[in-house]
Amino acid sequence: MWDAVVVGGGLAGLIAGIRATQRGKRVLLVTEGVGTLFHFSGIFDYGDVEGLRHLPKHPYTLFDSQAITQGKHFVQEICPEYVVNDRPQSAFNVLGTVRQGDLMPRSMVLPDPQEQGVFVLLVPEGLKDFFPEIVADNMAREFPGWQVSVKRMQVDALQEWTRLGKSVTSIDYADIWRSEEGYRALAHEIDEIKRQFQDAGRSQGKIVVVLPSLVREYFDASRTKFYRNEFSLPVLEMSSFVPSPHGRYFAEYLKHIFTDLGGELMIGARAVSLKGELNSEGHAKICQELVVRSMGKLMRLKGKKFILATGGLLGGGIKVGMARRSIRESVFDLPLFIPQEWSVPQFLAPQPYAQIGVETDQFMRPLDPVSGQVVWDNVHVVGRMLAHWDPWTQRCGGGVSVTSGYAAAELI
Ligand SMILES: Cc1cc2nc3c(=O)[nH]c(=O)nc-3n(C[C@H](O)[C@H](O)[C@H](O)COP(=O)(O)OP(=O)(O)OC[C@H]3O[C@@H](n4cnc5c(N)ncnc54)[C@H](O)[C@@H]3O)c2cc1C
Repeated sequence: MWDAVVVGGGLAGLIAGIRATQRGKRVLLVTEGVGTLFHFSGIFDYGDVEGLRHLPKHPYTLFDSQAITQGKHFVQEICPEYVVNDRPQSAFNVLGTVRQGDLMPRSMVLPDPQEQGVFVLLVPEGLKDFFPEIVADNMAREFPGWQVSVKRMQVDALQEWTRLGKSVTSIDYADIWRSEEGYRALAHEIDEIKRQFQDAGRSQGKIVVVLPSLVREYFDASRTKFYRNEFSLPVLEMSSFVPSPHGRYFAEYLKHIFTDLGGELMIGARAVSLKGELNSEGHAKICQELVVRSMGKLMRLKGKKFILATGGLLGGGIKVGMARRSIRESVFDLPLFIPQEWSVPQFLAPQPYAQIGVETDQFMRPLDPVSGQVVWDNVHVVGRMLAHWDPWTQRCGGGVSVTSGYAAAELI
């Protein structure tokens, strides 16, 4: 029997699985797909935590400030490249404007705009949806004291692609920089930039190469730690369009940490139902077995605790049928909070459907919203499955997922 079965391998489920395994628990993580991590910019948004804690039923009301800070430090512990700071930090988004975030890798943190220097925007040829002149204009507006220049780069491995007019995504480029040949080509290009500035008599310290892709490495050769590729000039990473290399490599990294710690990962498996019975007081039920479909076969998985991290409407944890109001939580058939109106017509306004999810008690156990009773004693709900929050307008997607995943693991 597993100490915990985690259902869902997005950010919340992986953080819960890693922390519980690190605490010495036997953990199985079952996931159908990759979740929304593939859209993740690499920057964790926590939002206005204190303000959100004043909203009735917001997930942050389930945690004290210490728990939220512990989750942040945990991310830094497993990914030492991430910087925890008291104040939000700034990074370039893919348009060259500045975006703030609460936890981001060192390689994305912008220098001080009060200083003076040069940004060299290094643009690999054919990069899809990237408009260097617009991006450079935006960067110059954001950093008035800095000079911005654009340098284009041909990558031999992709010459045939770009000649045929095929666009190349930032994931393709992130993969190229990881090859021996790609890394050498990039390092050579950066050496050339440095040499040109030296020839022109410019000091080296304030020349920063800006790259619209991911270049840092997550593993060294023994696949054990997070490190940064070295170049002759500092390299600043921008966030990129989806699908995001930052999200993809981060997801892979988290999975490796989980399995390296001894966690068991079952990918491509869908939890479909469960077996349980009433607890000794005859109220909440105890889940004993989860039924999972994998490669056409049904399997029964026994666990002491279950963590539901199936990601709500976008992650597949909540299914909406063709008939209006036909909506259900797809594994435990948990009662959902559903607002009266699902949407409002105003463009970019907060949408009520974002609040759909499972209400819980302070231990993240699912509640019946009518009776207020705990429905399952040994089930904890985390991440996007929780009700009463909106990752888009409140900008707290990573914050709620990390905090709830970490806190659930502490309860195993
Ligand atoms: C486009 C986009 C961009 C974002 N960018 C950022 C960002 O830059 N910064 C930030 O902080 N936050 C961002 N977020 C928000 C943040 O990524 C989400 O809050 C967070 O990923 C939610 O994580 P989750 O683990 O709860 O769900 P998900 O990531 O949706 O994962 C759910 C997982 O459950 C699996 N699953 C579902 N049903 C089953 C089942 N029955 N059986 C087995 N597995 C199942 C799915 O396959 C999936 O792996 C973004 C979100 C989106 C949509």
